[in-house]
Amino acid sequence: MNLPTETLPTDAPWIVVKFGGTSVSTRPRWDNIATIVGAHRAKGKRVLIVVSALSGITDQLKAIGEAHADASRCRELYLGIVERHHALYRDMQLPSRNALDGWLARLDQLLGDARRPAGELSWQAELLAHGELLSSTLGALYLNARGLTTHWLDSREFFLARPQPNQGAWGRWLSASVEVAPDPAVATALAARGDVFIAQGFIARHDDGATAILGRGGSDTSASYFGALLKAEAVEIWTDVPGMFSANPRQVPDARLLSRLDYAEAQEIATTGAKVLHPRCIHPVREVRVPLVIKDTNRPELPGTAIGPNVAHAATSIKAISSRKGITLVSMESIGMWQQVGFLADVFDAFKRHGLSVDLIGSAETNVTVSLDPSDNLLTSDVLSRLCADLEPFCRVKVIAPCAAVTVVGRGMRSMLHKLSAVLAEFGALDVHLISQSSNNLNLTFVVDEALADALIPRLHALLIRAEAMRVDDAAVFGPSWRELAHGAGDDARATWWRTRRDDLLAIAAEATPRYVYDLGHVRAQARGLAAIGAVDRWHYALKANPHADILRALHAEGFAFECVSWDEVEHVRRTLPDLPCERILFTPNFAPREEYRAALAAGVRVTLDALHPIAEWGADFAGHDILLRVDLGAGRGHHDKVKTGGAQSKFGVSLDEIEAFRAHARTHGARITGLHAHLGSGILDAQHWRSVYVQMASLAEQFNRVEVLDLGGGLGVPSRPEDAPLDLDALAAALAEVKQAYPQFKLWMEPGRYLVAEAGVLLARVTQLKRKGDVRYVGLDAGMNSLIRPALYEAWHDIVNLTRLDDAPGEVVQVVGPICESGDTLGNHRRLATCAEGDVVLVAEAGAYGAVMASRYNLREPAAEIVLP
Ligand code: PLP
Repeated sequence: MNLPTETLPTDAPWIVVKFGGTSVSTRPRWDNIATIVGAHRAKGKRVLIVVSALSGITDQLKAIGEAHADASRCRELYLGIVERHHALYRDMQLPSRNALDGWLARLDQLLGDARRPAGELSWQAELLAHGELLSSTLGALYLNARGLTTHWLDSREFFLARPQPNQGAWGRWLSASVEVAPDPAVATALAARGDVFIAQGFIARHDDGATAILGRGGSDTSASYFGALLKAEAVEIWTDVPGMFSANPRQVPDARLLSRLDYAEAQEIATTGAKVLHPRCIHPVREVRVPLVIKDTNRPELPGTAIGPNVAHAATSIKAISSRKGITLVSMESIGMWQQVGFLADVFDAFKRHGLSVDLIGSAETNVTVSLDPSDNLLTSDVLSRLCADLEPFCRVKVIAPCAAVTVVGRGMRSMLHKLSAVLAEFGALDVHLISQSSNNLNLTFVVDEALADALIPRLHALLIRAEAMRVDDAAVFGPSWRELAHGAGDDARATWWRTRRDDLLAIAAEATPRYVYDLGHVRAQARGLAAIGAVDRWHYALKANPHADILRALHAEGFAFECVSWDEVEHVRRTLPDLPCERILFTPNFAPREEYRAALAAGVRVTLDALHPIAEWGADFAGHDILLRVDLGAGRGHHDKVKTGGAQSKFGVSLDEIEAFRAHARTHGARITGLHAHLGSGILDAQHWRSVYVQMASLAEQFNRVEVLDLGGGLGVPSRPEDAPLDLDALAAALAEVKQAYPQFKLWMEPGRYLVAEAGVLLARVTQLKRKGDVRYVGLDAGMNSLIRPALYEAWHDIVNLTRLDDAPGEVVQVVGPICESGDTLGNHRRLATCAEGDVVLVAEAGAYGAVMASRYNLREPAAEIVLP
């Protein structure tokens, strides 16, 4: 390595870099540290390295602390620690072991210390400190051996533990706090000694020089303390993840890297669940406004998460959603509490006596409910029952556990409530025990049963993005998704046939706009993908998605039957495909007039009933006919509330408690129920959904005598946003094959619409005008909600590109709007297209389903005409 030899000027800026246990455990990791430190040094920075103990060593030292009475066990553990450090020493091929052996000898002495048999706290603190003393010593030896002159510092000389109010002896020794202010004298004195230093995380001293431990997250906190003391240019926390994310990436692969946070937001995210950064380490740098940066040791080129002062005029946005499990709620009910002086003081005194720290509070006239985090004494003792006994004289106590606290974090939370309607709707279906809005206006927390949290977080994350409450388009704040970082950015699963046919499309647009253009090749390809799923006995095309005659003909040729929801749709199919046997048309209307059912029966079309009314009131019409019964399995799914077709709030299907009545009417009138049908919603990307529908329907069907067919509906989704994972057809095929094997007696039907045609269609429009109002820029098109109503109706997200300038770099963020006299006439919010000029052709992707067919002549503007590419 080519290292600068000259000493830096005294006032060279400081950078504090912190490395955790895994980053200091092997020689290659230390080479990595040398590279990072060397790069800073080469840029003229003075560097202070803070290290944790080698991974696992603190646990070993703790184990010695716990086994204090058992001298031989302590020695056994000690020998393991010695061997671990000697092994790394050997691997590092260092010239001398003296410094290392000095600390190991001191550790050996501690085993013979008079305080050991009783496991005194002062002894434990000194013991624990050795993990960092050893690792920093090895590190200093290695860096010096590599030619990077590095001075070893003892952190205890810099940090004095400060007793805290209500702090017990345990906290004083093993969870100490330090107060640090910038001290130019310290910085100058160090600068006189050299350019690169290494010190321990986790440790401080008491007034008398005895060792104190900083407690959990201590090494991050030490780095912060050094950052504040030296008024560093930055504190870098090097970890094994790229930074903080908008949700836990293990739960939400689409969670976005948070590139920029202010101190308060980072504090809130760290406190409410994210494990990347310990909450205690933000306060020291926040006070003195030293930026804190989280960096990925494995990918140093990534920018990480930068935490600093609040950015003035930053757009309000939800930044993250997190969850904490193991929460205990204590609900205290008292009739006498209303306006009673001192009630809260009495109950909180009981919490204090038992050393329990209260987190969230909800209060009403006769009830106060509080939450407790899973602290050590809560988990390991019967403190809760003792607390309850103490509270009994004041109130009726109920403990609710285990719970999870689900928290949405973002500055200015109260001004964003209107964007949270979809999130609130999601909670509407659950039992929420407590809601708390933090008084600092940074978080909104919902406490629910713990078992619900894992499934809830990914759904809420998607809803926050969809509602634009989480403004992921703001590139200054939101970086790439975890999925992109893990698999590379080329993971966009969306169909882009239109890129290769750009010239054709521009030629069409040159003739006239707006235009819908469909690629029949894509429709066929989608159909063949589905047809290959062996478990499905019959595929229907739900032509409500797009009834274009060419599409019907193409799908007929691919062997598809057809599903219609109106008599006019039935007639349209029959006109378009005169040779199609009526038996291959399935009629699934909802609240249709009686004549439509009669016409369908008379034509020999298969009919599905989805209410009691037709069979109860017009039963004779169905005499001698085979019918399908559409059931409501109780809950809907889909990309938006308006496309969920299950549950009492949805008008579709016969609810489970009315099925018996339906059967009785069918029997009376001699109608045969030969099929069950369920369609729970649209735009579902989870392949397991249809397995669960099949299982529910199959067990229901076993109660019927003649059911031969189970129709699982449609709803197969296609990815619309870059981060959407496509529906996994192999997984769908496997899931269906599995359930079909379990219930081989039924024929399996499905009836997708969107999946076949959505990606095959694009909407071409022309830029009419450009406008700026305040900070908002508008791009106006000659197509609006009269052509494509999905964004207005379902908040649907369609990719939008400037086709004329497809290869230009993205320009400013714009609102893409149409010419209709409605504020809701927006095709895309906060988009970054190549900078638009009047006359440019803009393409709205994935517009083949529920596009042209839902168009209107509102404002007497003709919607886009349709063109088919063969
Ligand atoms: N089947 C029924 C009964 C429907 O109501 C719908 C859509 O509304 C579909 C099938 C087709 O849904 P998708 O286009 O999401 O596949």
